[in-house]
Amino acid sequence: MYLKALMLQGFKSFPEKTVLTFDQSITAIVGPNGSGKSNLSDAVRWVMGEQSTRALRGGRMEDVIFGGTAKRRQTGYAQVSLVLDNSDHRLPREENEVMVTRRYYRSGESEYYINRDAVRLKDVSELFLDTGLGREGYAIIGQGRIDEILSQRSTDRREVFEEAAGISRFRHRKEEAQRK
Ligand code: ATP
Ligand code: MG
Repeated sequence: MYLKALMLQGFKSFPEKTVLTFDQSITAIVGPNGSGKSNLSDAVRWVMGEQSTRALRGGRMEDVIFGGTAKRRQTGYAQVSLVLDNSDHRLPREENEVMVTRRYYRSGESEYYINRDAVRLKDVSELFLDTGLGREGYAIIGQGRIDEILSQRSTDRREVFEEAAGISRFRHRKEEAQRK
């Protein structure tokens, strides 16, 4: 499994449709301060279901929508798609390519899609469970995250190991069953 492409439209500093493609080698993103490098990793986090505005470096969820500049009007929604190569079927889907899309309107409406089917946030979270990707994953290590992992409560630290061991799925199912 690897990241094949990232598509942004109206997300933070990317008002126009922007497509980035990646291959299996190392990719580095370079650019001057404020040019949007961190916005790209925010986009990856966001499309995988991030709900914390703090993690997205904003105050409100609306802050992910392009807010306009002196020359360009704000956009009405933000949309990000992530395309993953799934030929090794690490994601529990039959398709060899999986595209996840999230769209968010100024009205506060959210939409999620997996390969163009409208789904719930829960479906996106479940898709990434135990893969290291997703909201609770460790595939994205942000600034300060190493310190956080080292100093976290032991129960939180255990969750990181559970995700790496591929057993989060079972804890989630158990918790869900206990709620019923
Ligand atoms: P550094 O090298 O300092 O870490 P960076 O390349 O990571 O910089 P980012 O933090 O990704 O830069 O981008 C910051 C820029 O994104 C700022 O200019 C900010 O105004 C712009 N930005 C963030 N959110 C929005 C938004 N909703 N609408 C328009 N522009 C935005
Ligand atoms: Mg940055």
